[in-house]
Amino acid sequence: MSVQHDPVQRADFDQFMVPNYSPAAFIPVRGEGSRVWDQTGRELLDFAGGIAVNVLGHAHPVLVKALTEQANALWHVSNVFTNEPALRLAKKLTDATFAERVFFCNSGAEANEAAFKLARRVAFDKFGEEKCEIIAAVNSFHGRTLFTVSVGGQPKYSDGFGPKIQGISHVPYNDLEALKAAVSDKTCAVVLEPIQGEGGVLPADLAYLQGARELCDKHNALLVFDEVQSGMGRSGSLFTYQHYGVTPDILSSAKSLGGGFPIGAMLTTTELAKHLAVGTHGTTYGGNPLACAVAEAVVDTINTPEVLEGVKTKHQQFKTALEKIGQQYAVFSEVRGLGLLIGCVLTDAWKGKAKVILDAAAQEGLMVLQAGPDVVRFAPSLVVTEAEINEGLARFERAVAKVTQA
Ligand SMILES: *Cc1c(COP(=O)(O)O)cnc(C)c1O
Repeated sequence: MSVQHDPVQRADFDQFMVPNYSPAAFIPVRGEGSRVWDQTGRELLDFAGGIAVNVLGHAHPVLVKALTEQANALWHVSNVFTNEPALRLAKKLTDATFAERVFFCNSGAEANEAAFKLARRVAFDKFGEEKCEIIAAVNSFHGRTLFTVSVGGQPKYSDGFGPKIQGISHVPYNDLEALKAAVSDKTCAVVLEPIQGEGGVLPADLAYLQGARELCDKHNALLVFDEVQSGMGRSGSLFTYQHYGVTPDILSSAKSLGGGFPIGAMLTTTELAKHLAVGTHGTTYGGNPLACAVAEAVVDTINTPEVLEGVKTKHQQFKTALEKIGQQYAVFSEVRGLGLLIGCVLTDAWKGKAKVILDAAAQEGLMVLQAGPDVVRFAPSLVVTEAEINEGLARFERAVAKVTQA
C-alpha cells in the first residue's frame, strides 16, 4: 500500500523553497519517542522537540491512535458545522483552566492574532476607539503575522514590511516600574509571555506578573498571556500561569497543544468572549477534527500528576548536568527556565556562538535549539526517560568538549 515517492535531497531545498529558512544538512525521515533517524539511517536524540512542539515525542501510540481513528471518521467540515473532537477539546481545556470559552485556529500567531483582536474589540465596545493601546515586552515573540510581529518586541522580525500596526509600545521585561510608567487608561491590553521563549528562555519574576495583573485591573486593561511555548505541561504545570498563580484574561496556546499536529487556541472568559459575536472573526481550518482529536489526546496524556511531576524531576536532572558542563568548559554563565524549557546562557567568551554549539551537538547525534545567538535551548519531550537524558547530555558534553577544544 506504501506510496512510491521520487527521491529528494537537501539540495532540493535551495532549488525549490523560498529561502526564509536555513535547515540542517540532514533530513529527518522517521521518529519514535525521543529518537529521530535521518535519510542515511543515522540516529539522533531529539531535545529540540520541533521547537517545543513534540511534547510526547515522535509517533506516541496514543496520538497515532487518536489521529488514525479520526482520519477514518471525519477530516473537515468547516465552521459552518461544529464537530465532536472540537467540542470535547474545548470542554477539557475549560475544565483544566480559568477559561470558559475557546477559539480554535491553526498556529500560535493566529491564537495571538485572535487574542489581540479580542482585546481591542472589548475596549472598543466598552470604552470607545481611544482605548486601543497594547503594551508588550522588549524581546518578546508572538508570531510572524503583521499584528504579531508588531506586538513582538524584536525589530529584526517587524522592520522592513512597511507601516506596522499602530498603538503598540514595548517595555523592558521583568521591570515593573517601566510597565507602571507605560500603562494608562488608553491601554487595552498588556501582553506577556510568562517565560520568554525565543527571547532567551527567561522566566518572569512572580512580583512582575502580580504587578501586571494589578495594573491591568486598575486601568481596565486585559492581561494577555502568550503561552504558545510555555504552556501544555512544559513548565511542570499545565499552563505556566498556574505555576505563578496569576490568572490572565486571555491566554494563547499552540505548539505543544497539537503535539506535532498544527493547532492553536485562544482561551478566555464568557464575559469577554461575547465581544467576538457571529461574523467578527474566524478561520476555515479552526477546530479541524483531526487537529482537535490529536490535541484532546495530548491534553489527556499530559494533564496527569505523573507527567507533570516527571517534568519537575527531569528539570533537576537537566539543570544539574548542564551546570556541571557549563562550569567544566566555562561555556555557561547560567542555566535557567522552568520544567523542560531550559536555556543555557553563554559566557561572554562564547556569546553569539549558540549556533556553533547546536551544529556540534547535531554532529554528535543530538538535536538542540538556540534561543537567540547567546542561549542554547532544550525543549525535549515531556516523557523523555532518565536514561535518554543521560545519553543525550553525554552527547552534548562531547559536542561542547569538541567546540571548546578546537
Ligand atoms: C512559536 C511562538 C509563537 C508563534 O507560533 P506559530 O505557531 O509559529 O505561529 C507565538 N508566541 C510564542 C511565545 C511562541 O513561542
